[in-house]
Amino acid sequence: MKRLIVIPMILFVLTMSACTTSPTGRSQFMMVSPEQAISASKEAYVKTLKPLDDKGKIDSDPAVTKRVKLITGRLISQAIIQYPHTRNWEWSVKVIDDPEMVNAWCMAGGKMAIYTGLLDKVKPTDDELAQVMGHEIAHALANHTAEKMSVQMATQIGMVAIAVAANDSDYGGAALTGAALAATMAIELPNSRTAEIEADRMGIELAAKAGYNPNAAATLWVKMAKAGGANPPEFLSTHPSPGNRQSTLRRLAPQMMPFYKQKTARPVYPL
Ligand SMILES: [Zn+2]
Repeated sequence: MKRLIVIPMILFVLTMSACTTSPTGRSQFMMVSPEQAISASKEAYVKTLKPLDDKGKIDSDPAVTKRVKLITGRLISQAIIQYPHTRNWEWSVKVIDDPEMVNAWCMAGGKMAIYTGLLDKVKPTDDELAQVMGHEIAHALANHTAEKMSVQMATQIGMVAIAVAANDSDYGGAALTGAALAATMAIELPNSRTAEIEADRMGIELAAKAGYNPNAAATLWVKMAKAGGANPPEFLSTHPSPGNRQSTLRRLAPQMMPFYKQKTARPVYPL
């Protein structure tokens, strides 16, 4: 009987999976569509923030919130200019009061958060903070959430298929976990090195176009490493950095300078 379960799942994989191309031209394995990732992320965002909000841990310092929203709003405006379909995203950013957490993230569909630990420990300048948020926004623009969710689901289906083949009743009944859970896990799991390089490249450009100095990308990572001390901050541990990350960003900075120096209006998306 159990063997039958495998067939619909494999069919599901075959019909749902597709290779798409990321903004930098990389081929991506997609079982979860960007739209599915966005709707799952909406649910995950509410579930993640609600308990924190109940404890008064969201946007508790108006000055900090205002600063984060202004910088993020300028980045979002540029994201929309470059990727017009994101105009329909329900963009949002929240500051989570957690002095020990050095992290920030952006779910599929532009739902973001930054922890006070990153602001307090790294003490980023506006230019550096723009690099953090630009990098996170880039993960969403490049559909990295959908990509990670796809890998998780493929892994789960693989486990189920193997277990069923082995006639293991412990796994035979396992199905896909909720999409929202997958979306939550997607922000907690490390991105691949390739995804990181892609987000670095797209993030520095977004920040330069929004009027933030591209030289801040390299200095940000120096400060991030220092903030880590003996225990690397969460942001670094979930963002495995190749040894040459800083030098790559330094090399990219001059290419981004013309965007930064452009004498154009820098619109601010209202958050
Ligand atoms: Zn990243």
